[in-house]
Amino acid sequence: MKTSQFIIVMKVLVLFFILNAQAQAASKLQVVTTVAPITNLVKNIGGDLIQIKGIVPEGTNSHTFEPSPSDIKYLAAADLLIYNGLHLEIPTEKLANANRKKGAIFVKLGDGTIGKKEWQFDFSFPESDGHPNPHLWLNVAHAMKYAELIRDALVAADPANQESYEKRATSLLVRLVTLDKAIIKAMATIPKDKRKLLTYHDSWAYFCPRYGCEVIGAIQPSSFADPSPREMARLIDQLKAQQVPAIFGSEVFPSKIMNQIGKEAGVKFISTLRDDDLPGEDGAPENSYIGMMLENVRTMTKVLGGNSSALEGIDPSNQ
Ligand SMILES: [Zn+2]
Repeated sequence: MKTSQFIIVMKVLVLFFILNAQAQAASKLQVVTTVAPITNLVKNIGGDLIQIKGIVPEGTNSHTFEPSPSDIKYLAAADLLIYNGLHLEIPTEKLANANRKKGAIFVKLGDGTIGKKEWQFDFSFPESDGHPNPHLWLNVAHAMKYAELIRDALVAADPANQESYEKRATSLLVRLVTLDKAIIKAMATIPKDKRKLLTYHDSWAYFCPRYGCEVIGAIQPSSFADPSPREMARLIDQLKAQQVPAIFGSEVFPSKIMNQIGKEAGVKFISTLRDDDLPGEDGAPENSYIGMMLENVRTMTKVLGGNSSALEGIDPSNQ
């Protein structure tokens, strides 16, 4: 064969493989999710059987996130939309409904996990606004219910792969039970009078009741704007009075103000708690829901005077 003929054959082969891969991806169940922890739980249960797109980019404020027009193509192609609900993703939900494919299944994990009676309202999510605190997934017991709902949704949308989804979900649930028990143990090592969380972003309303800590306040107003100077002065007084060891922020929200408040109140400021962006680079073992929970609890125990040895040996990597 001449070199030119060989090149043509190779080009045809490459094209064939690309088209084949695209056809395979298109024939898979098309799943759209929103925030990264939910995307990661779905990935762990769906594995290679699904084509998944998480539309809230990591490091953005998921509470004010507006999908872009380029997200429409994913929403319109979705066989299954899995999101938190509890009013977290209202703009995305609107756009998804407007572009809903016939027969598509929409699942709101938060709404399927707790009833209205269990909704938490607080400073950043006041009852007067009607939007509950949506951060259910930071309580691993709730994340287990999420995993069950995800499994059931995948099975409903793609019954041919029922067995695989069930197997993968069971394996994840076993891992979440271990994680939950270890977090209970680790949090219990923090001296009782220090088991208090004061955070910038108000993410721990469902975590603390399960793991024996108390949310004594959050700083971020319900508008998600920065606190006013008067509000800051009030916070500094509160911090001094309550003698909390630290205030916690997250990388998603700017820490300048927190640093200033911490300095003036003489309190440590820790900026690395995460509620919806995963630690590590894409593909790193800790870049997972389990990895995020481990890192959060390690941070809390270290700063608040406990120890995290109960978490040792827990593998955060995706299954
Ligand atoms: Zn949040």
